[in-house]
Amino acid sequence: LSTGDMLRAAGEDADNELGQTAKGHMEAGELVPDELITGLVVERLAKPDCREQGWLLDGFPRTAAQAELLENALTGYEPASKEAPKKGSKIAPPPEDAEPTEPPPPHIPGLDLVLRLDVDDETARKRALGRRLDPDTGIVYHLELEPPPEDEGLNERLVPLTGAANQEAQLQPALAAYADGEAALSEWLSDLGILQQVSADVAADEVHAADRKSV
Ligand code: AMP
Repeated sequence: LSTGDMLRAAGEDADNELGQTAKGHMEAGELVPDELITGLVVERLAKPDCREQGWLLDGFPRTAAQAELLENALTGYEPASKEAPKKGSKIAPPPEDAEPTEPPPPHIPGLDLVLRLDVDDETARKRALGRRLDPDTGIVYHLELEPPPEDEGLNERLVPLTGAANQEAQLQPALAAYADGEAALSEWLSDLGILQQVSADVAADEVHAADRKSV
C-alpha cells in the first residue's frame, strides 16, 4: 500500500474533504499532517484484505509521530517517559523494604520490520522527476528507468505526478521535510528493534535482492 497513491486517489475525489486537504500539502511539497495520513492508513489496514493477508506499506511511517501513532493503533503501546520524575513530584518513591517489582514483559511491536532505503538527494531527484502517471490505469512509469511501452495513446495520456514527486521547486522542501524528521524516526524504530537499512543507490534489482535478504 503506497501512501502516496492512497493520497492521490483521495485527492481526485472533489467531495473527499480529507483528500482535498492532503492535495494542498502535496502540491506544496509538504508532508501531509501526521494524524491525517495515519488515520487513513489505520482505516485501510482494518479492511478484510489486510486482516486476512497481512500488508506492506510503502512510504509510511515518514515521521516519528506517524510511527508512534501507528504502533499505538496496532498494539496500544505508549512509550514509557524517558524523563525522571520532576522535583517535588507527588508520586512517592517505593518504601525501602518493598518487594522488587517484576519488569514489564518486552513489548512486541505491531510492525515486523521497517526497511529504510538510503539514497542520496541527487539520485532521489532523478528518480522522482522522471515519474509519469497513466491516469487510466494508475500505473506509474519512469521515463528513463521504467519506460512506458510503445503506445501512442498511452504516451499522450501520461501526466506528471502531482506534488513533490514531480516538480523541482517542490522536491527540495520535500527532501528537507523528510531529512528534518529522519533522525527521530530512525531512533524510534531502532529502539523497537525493527529498523533495517538498505543501500538504495544501486540498480533496482540489487535493491530488491537486499530487501529480500533483510526480510
Ligand atoms: P510519494 O508518492 O511517496 O512520493 O508521496 C507523494 C506525496 O504524498 C508526498 O510528497 C507527501 O506530500 C505525501 N505523503 C505520502 N506519504 C506520506 C506520509 N507517510 N506522510 C506524510 N505525507 C505523505
